[in-house]
Amino acid sequence: MTYAAGRTYLAIPGPSVIPDRVLAAMHRASPDIYAGELPAMVPGIFADLRAVARTRQHVALYIANGHGAWEAANTNMFSPGDSALCLITGRFGEGWANWAAALGVDVQRIDFGRQHPVDPGEVRKALLADSGGRIKAVLMTHVDTTTSVRNDVAAVRAAIDAAGHPALLAVDGVASLACDRFEMDAWGVDVMVSASQKGLMTPPGLSFVWISDKALAACRGSRWRTPYWDWHARSQPQEFYQQFGGTAPTHHLFGLRAALDLIKEEGLEAVWARHEALARAVWSAIEAWGAGGADIRLNIADPALRSHAVTTVRFKAPFAASIREWVQAHAGVTLGLGLGMTAPGSTGPHDFLRVAHMGHVNAHMTLGVLGTMEAAMAGLGLAHATGALSAAAASLAVPVPIRAAAE
Ligand SMILES: *Cc1c(COP(=O)(O)O)cnc(C)c1O
Repeated sequence: MTYAAGRTYLAIPGPSVIPDRVLAAMHRASPDIYAGELPAMVPGIFADLRAVARTRQHVALYIANGHGAWEAANTNMFSPGDSALCLITGRFGEGWANWAAALGVDVQRIDFGRQHPVDPGEVRKALLADSGGRIKAVLMTHVDTTTSVRNDVAAVRAAIDAAGHPALLAVDGVASLACDRFEMDAWGVDVMVSASQKGLMTPPGLSFVWISDKALAACRGSRWRTPYWDWHARSQPQEFYQQFGGTAPTHHLFGLRAALDLIKEEGLEAVWARHEALARAVWSAIEAWGAGGADIRLNIADPALRSHAVTTVRFKAPFAASIREWVQAHAGVTLGLGLGMTAPGSTGPHDFLRVAHMGHVNAHMTLGVLGTMEAAMAGLGLAHATGALSAAAASLAVPVPIRAAAE
């Protein structure tokens, strides 16, 4: 018996759910790329991309995914002989460091493990030890999608300043942009990378690098820069095509326009607040399931350090894997794999899963996912405490006074 027929829900941390309005905007004939609607629309997209990252500075767009944005940032920032201080709080932080190292950057890593955020004190120490001034940039992940930790970007900026070090602050915001509060200018971020398929609700294929005035100036002579990835032409084009390094990604741009409109209509602050409320509903259900000794718990203990876009949960192996299989087969929901996560003493990678609550997601979708997870636990015979769904529902119970009945 299965109850999977109906609209499926991909609740993995990217690609996220594509809104019908984004799909509809892309469903059209090829536009003229030299004149008319498409070129007229592009300046507004760039303005709104700056707004969504809370910056008045620069943004470059690439026809690439998040890994492409890493490559763009790396090739523009570094020259042979430069060092990068990489702050690692999960698989994605490790990934960016590996890609920088593969380019030839001298990478210094500080690994904070799989359950803890960046410690700014360690950053300050490492920068103070850099007496030769070889560290060109500090690379960090705002939200590491594998551990679901959320790092304090402003605190890392403060640590760089406290060390009196000129290093640029470069942030991976792929998982957090338009989900968790992100303030590029107020937090003193120099470079931020993100992609279209997470909080921006558009199919994978576009990525972005936001650049501060300071980073543009500090990297002007970078010797690993190549024409295709050069962020100058893309962020300050003389000709329309230079913004894209060639033909514009026509349909992605129409989709992105619709997604940015959705964000504008809801309001960025409201988008962040919705993500926080849905995240809290997920946490309250998981905490309730694990109450009374059941082996179910959130990977990040402190709520202040948890992402509002994705939640990594530990279930006793092999239940994380069996729950994923169950909800996909019987309920039409796909949950995220426990990527790069293995519990100490565990026998395999089957003790973590990830619940995404990222992008075009609302209360009924999140409550639906939690309900199907509870059905999976019952179907699989996994011991869990009761009351999780009530707790999640209560956490989303917006109080509204009852209207007097019409006379
Ligand atoms: C998804 C993700 C990436 C990689 O993006 P791709 O589009 O898959 O290349 C990088 N960093 C973080 C934090 C992510 O969540």
